[in-house]
Amino acid sequence: MAAIATVDGWTERAAELDIPRQAFIDGRYTDAHDGATFACVSPIDGRELAQVAACTAEDVDRAVAGARAAFAAGTWATAAPKERKRVLLRLAELMREHADELGLLETLDMGKPIREARDTDVRLAAECIQYYAEAVDKVYDEIAPTSRDAVAMIYREPLGVVGAVVPWNFPLLMASWKLGPALAVGNSVVLKPAEQSPLTALRLGALASEAGLPDGVLQVVPGDGPGAGQPLGLHPDVDMIAFTGSTEVGKRFLRYAGESNMKRISLECGGKSPHIVLPDCHDLPAAASAAAWGVFYNQGEVCNAGTRLVVHEQIKDEFMDLLLAAARDIAPGNPLDPETNLGAMVDQTQTERVMGYIETGREEGADLILGGSRVRTDTGGFYIEPTVFDRVRNDMTIAREEIFGPVLSTIEVGSEAEAVTVANDTMYGLAAAVWTDSVDAAHRVARAIRAGVVWVNTFDAGDITSPFGGFKQSGFGRDKSIHALEKYADLKTVWIGLRP
Ligand code: NAP
Ligand code: MG
Repeated sequence: MAAIATVDGWTERAAELDIPRQAFIDGRYTDAHDGATFACVSPIDGRELAQVAACTAEDVDRAVAGARAAFAAGTWATAAPKERKRVLLRLAELMREHADELGLLETLDMGKPIREARDTDVRLAAECIQYYAEAVDKVYDEIAPTSRDAVAMIYREPLGVVGAVVPWNFPLLMASWKLGPALAVGNSVVLKPAEQSPLTALRLGALASEAGLPDGVLQVVPGDGPGAGQPLGLHPDVDMIAFTGSTEVGKRFLRYAGESNMKRISLECGGKSPHIVLPDCHDLPAAASAAAWGVFYNQGEVCNAGTRLVVHEQIKDEFMDLLLAAARDIAPGNPLDPETNLGAMVDQTQTERVMGYIETGREEGADLILGGSRVRTDTGGFYIEPTVFDRVRNDMTIAREEIFGPVLSTIEVGSEAEAVTVANDTMYGLAAAVWTDSVDAAHRVARAIRAGVVWVNTFDAGDITSPFGGFKQSGFGRDKSIHALEKYADLKTVWIGLRP
């Protein structure tokens, strides 16, 4: 289906859109047990989109019980791999058929440009589901190399009930990174979207059902962190939590596991990614464009955003001119306009948080050389212009803490070795990039940086085939690729003694 081409077209489509409001449990939409709701607000104009079911412990209990019952019944967990493949392939197809609707729900809910929501987020989410669907009947179990008096088979068994807790910056995509492998292996999943962005998750529940997923295998419980996330984390009958979000909340899930049933935890958390430009990079315009997009993409609400520009003094002046020119092409606009390349911040709280960091950067003595203000305030929505600080020291707050907004900190260095030291001087280790034309420097720097992914002469590149996740306090466990299947399964050895 061709995308709608104009802002008026999307605005009209938005007006007639059916907004999902209820939790999705045991194959149908349902209110919270006490009828409680919360306001789902659009950051485009501050308007309330809907009152959405506010799930709490009782609802989580119900969702987990249904997920457990579905798992025990085995209609999904023990279904033939090719049957699970068929259903998940159908789900990917339905996501593509509903790309306009899902993209629009995402844009209205969290403010990203419609072009990104529809053509990037929904597309990648469907590709992810398809990838794991295709993997289901192609991944083999093992036979151990024992002596001839035994046969030892190593099976990968689904864990049971997986809780997936996801953030608001890529709501559908982050959910899909969990759901694809978790469902492919045969688990039941209880998905808790962020309270800022529940809509695509709720729609996905119904689409999965339409695709043929048995009732209870995918439950969606909207609600806030303390209300719905915590009871899921503490639940004695949840076998694993797959989490994406902040490092602070990630640590809470480790505690929840320790205080309850020692459930497995995988964590995709924050980052403060260094973007290094060395003097032997001969394509400075490409590097400058990547540095700008690497931090401003998705309003800067990206876990792996290249928020620390680490640039060599020899080329710095030339590079900064190119960077500012690239940044000036990126400007907040109406997210429903297909021409817009920078959308709205997710909500008022996040907007104030980012503005607070901009203020702190000034107070600590960094040079504000671009942006720094809220714009489009007459819309009632939340927009911040691309912001660049120069003369940042790596010990300043804006170089250490995750801002999660369109704010770049520039740190000048005098050598490759200093660049690596600065890059690693952080509690995070999610991603990094280096621009160089030296094959030696590329390999040296890539191996020296403690991060889950290092890009060379590109930024934020990759596809579903490559693992993604962090070192250090960016978390552990990997999303994407065949490796992601491992964390949703336990190994079981079946040892058969053979009579002579
Ligand atoms: P967040 O505040 O940590 O929230 C993540 C999820 O945890 C949300 O569903 C949230 O629910 C829930 N939660 C919050 N407090 C909780 C509590 N006390 N108990 C249980 N659950 C709780 O993160 P966010 O603000 O949504 O997203 C931004 C963060 O995500 C950034 O730090 C970013 O780096 C990280 N992120 C990481 C990756 C990655 O792959 N590494 C990808 C994207 C984002 P409510 O929001 O409803 O309260
Ligand atoms: Mg919202």
